[in-house]
Amino acid sequence: MHACIIAVGSELLTPFRVDTNSLAITERLNTIGYAVRLKTIVGDTVDELAQVVSSALVWADLIVLTGGLGPTEDDVTRDAVARVLQVPLEEDRAVVERIRARFVRRGMTMPDINRRQAMVPRGATLLDNANGTAPGLWIEHGRTAIVLLPGPPREMTSMLDAVIAERLAPRSGGAGLFRRVMKITGRTESDVDQQAQPIYGAWTSRAIPISTTILAMLGQIELHLTARAESRASADAALDAAVVELRTALGDAVYSVDGRPLEAVVGELLRARHATIAVAESCTGGLLASRLTDVPGSSDYVERGAVCYSNRAKTEWLGVTEALLARHGAVSEQVAEAMAAGIRSRAGVTVGVGVTGIAGPGGGTAEKPVGTVAIAVQTDDDARVRTFQFTGGREMVKFQASQAALNLVRLLLR
Ligand code: ATP
Ligand code: MG
Repeated sequence: MHACIIAVGSELLTPFRVDTNSLAITERLNTIGYAVRLKTIVGDTVDELAQVVSSALVWADLIVLTGGLGPTEDDVTRDAVARVLQVPLEEDRAVVERIRARFVRRGMTMPDINRRQAMVPRGATLLDNANGTAPGLWIEHGRTAIVLLPGPPREMTSMLDAVIAERLAPRSGGAGLFRRVMKITGRTESDVDQQAQPIYGAWTSRAIPISTTILAMLGQIELHLTARAESRASADAALDAAVVELRTALGDAVYSVDGRPLEAVVGELLRARHATIAVAESCTGGLLASRLTDVPGSSDYVERGAVCYSNRAKTEWLGVTEALLARHGAVSEQVAEAMAAGIRSRAGVTVGVGVTGIAGPGGGTAEKPVGTVAIAVQTDDDARVRTFQFTGGREMVKFQASQAALNLVRLLLR
């Protein structure tokens, strides 16, 4: 089943607004078996929109439009769809009264222009909007279903969920595309793909075919596994087996198979071991502590974080000696270890982390170029230290350093 998504709004054609609705729509449509074959963005121009809608009608089983259902002159989605279908727009009295009542509840009078939102193409079914004034519309035209949804994401998603549950899912009979996201860190994309491709390459011809895409992002790689199946249960079984195969091949590098971010995985390991953590950060400037505390409930295991940017801070707060700093330089495995040991003993925690490096763009040397980061992790009876060489600008180096530090903690606790 082929779907087309049309995002309506001139603001989406400027550099200032991104069409995120189509991503949320695609995700939901995939789960009930629709493949999105085309998505477009059209400005608030009735002629252009009518053209796009009528060309999609030729091939699409489902057309989802978002935006342009507001009350102003430039909200033209209703007009364009009515024109293409050659049906009149008629005012729905009940909708006018519902919108009027919504205004009255807020102590306001309905402006006359809001009557536009009660204009309904003949033959259309109204979709309730729990979070706004504009009702959505459902129209069947030959084999094509046309859905008009509001632009604001909160209104759009709740209405779409209802349309899927009540109208679209029953048509698909439970079949759909089902996804798993495996997350990997500490290896390169080519390295992962060389190992994974011979495994997933064969999956496309199985009874339940699974297609796999590899996505490289900063500090991590994702493998997206998509199964096409008649039911969630059969997709789950196929995907579970596939995940096990890849996990066995890729080993330690896989940190999550359910979409969880690295900081959440580390948090869970700390919690399971009744362990606590404290971090001493130089070049990451608190990013590591920030990511650890992005996880709800992290107060159970995060004890403290210290940003020790200067040598003086490393000495005063962590007890890193001036002699050590002079002998090895602030960016060295020895200093990272001393930072980890210093914060660990002062905080009285299970795990101490020290991060020191050169985020750039200045400060690099031939021996320690920009992107050099030393990271140490220590517990009572185990320790790791490593020097990394990251590429990219300042923010990229900082993020990769935080990612590597979290990964070292994960590998130590595993
Ligand atoms: P309204 O009654 O608010 O005018 P509407 O249905 O006319 O609703 P728009 O005017 O097109 O919707 O969009 C309202 C707001 O919703 C936009 O300013 C934008 O912030 C957000 N929005 C619209 N379309 C999208 C989209 N495709 N992706 C993300 N946000 C969107
Ligand atoms: Mg609008």
